[in-house]
Amino acid sequence: MDLEQFREETRQWLLANAPKSMFGTPKSMDDICWGGRKTHYPTDVKRWLDVMAERGWTAPTWPKQYGGGGLSRDEVKVLNQEMARLQLRPPLTGFGLSMIGPLLLQEGSEALKRTHIPPIVRGEIRWCQGYSEPGSGSDLASLQTKAEVDGDSFVLNGQKVWTSYADKADWMFILVRTDPKAKKQEGITFLLMDMDAPGVSVKPIRLISGTSPFCETFIENVRVSRANVVGQVNGGWAIAKALLGHERTMIADVFKDRVPGNPLVELARRYVGGDSRIADPIIRDRVTQSEMDQHCLDLTLDRSRDSAKAGHKPGPETSIFKYYGTETNMRRRELMVEILGPQGLGWEGNGFDGKELGITRDWLRSRGNSIEGGTSEIQLNVIAKRVLGLPD
Ligand SMILES: Cc1cc2nc3c(=O)[nH]c(=O)nc-3n(C[C@H](O)[C@H](O)[C@H](O)COP(=O)(O)OP(=O)(O)OC[C@H]3O[C@@H](n4cnc5c(N)ncnc54)[C@H](O)[C@@H]3O)c2cc1C
Repeated sequence: MDLEQFREETRQWLLANAPKSMFGTPKSMDDICWGGRKTHYPTDVKRWLDVMAERGWTAPTWPKQYGGGGLSRDEVKVLNQEMARLQLRPPLTGFGLSMIGPLLLQEGSEALKRTHIPPIVRGEIRWCQGYSEPGSGSDLASLQTKAEVDGDSFVLNGQKVWTSYADKADWMFILVRTDPKAKKQEGITFLLMDMDAPGVSVKPIRLISGTSPFCETFIENVRVSRANVVGQVNGGWAIAKALLGHERTMIADVFKDRVPGNPLVELARRYVGGDSRIADPIIRDRVTQSEMDQHCLDLTLDRSRDSAKAGHKPGPETSIFKYYGTETNMRRRELMVEILGPQGLGWEGNGFDGKELGITRDWLRSRGNSIEGGTSEIQLNVIAKRVLGLPD
């Protein structure tokens, strides 16, 4: 089928199958589907997830044999463009799709792929990331949560922190220390742990703004089968870095609002004025710069996806995506708030519409992008050492 035929059929299928309420901006965070057993979603959200999963279009590039869509990159682009044109929201999001799924496809045993990939595609299982510990953030390899062999299992003890959405997750991918005597990077193993296993407890962390997605995760004598090791025992550091490659690329790919018609330009026209072009020359210049930066990042991300499809593993260049994507995103969000003027000052209340409040919250959230998945300073260190080959 040629791409234009695929586009037409895709559009018709989306129009026929997407529930009406799935068109347009989500009204609240509850309308964004992260899947999993622990959250109940509105009927339309669940129906949208199910019809898309049935077709493998929650994970359109993944192989069909594990439930994915098996689409080519060009077809995925068309699917994304048509969804954006119709302002259809993604049927599913989360760490399963963006992190552990791609990692298992790349590094997992056949058994792990068969067990975990199809439930990710169907949105049945929600994942969280157990990397950070109270004393191990940027220096992740210093982590102390230990795992000792007992028969066919490991027994885990320790604590993780900043575990986003651990209270809602069904499974965690976790880094543990399996050889305390080895050099720190060489004694780490990457495991998959059931959050309902006896001994796992989760405590949400309250932030100054009220609630937060962050949790502390306490792990006390938790048994994890040895079959749940990804890669080799004590070989987890390479797996951890491969996952960070996916995480950093995902964080870089932060713009979900790239619909034809260009919301940044539209926003500027609406709040600053101007018909064919934006009235304020300084805002016009900054909008143009932002569009160019984003376009360059998109093209580079596309190149890297091509390279991934050709079988190349993501390398340290993902730090460039993470750094540049995060910076571009922060600048763009800041510009959006400036364009809103006084309407960009709202946190809640009747004086602001939903879109304005959304833009302000997205701006605040974009600051966290420069910390999660490794801070900007750490990315610059990686780029200096691993990409440019500069000395320590
Ligand atoms: C929104 C968000 C979501 C997160 N979700 C998760 C999650 O789900 N799971 C999880 O495991 N973790 C999560 N984290 C934690 C995150 O990975 C850590 O916060 C991050 O790795 C930084 O570690 P730290 O907070 O301990 O800071 P530190 O390591 O204490 O760093 C403090 C400051 O010092 C700088 N610094 C440290 N070392 C160096 C160095 N060698 N050179 C230059 N500067 C340096 C850092 O850049 C930073 O500015 C999340 C964080 C955020 C903000």
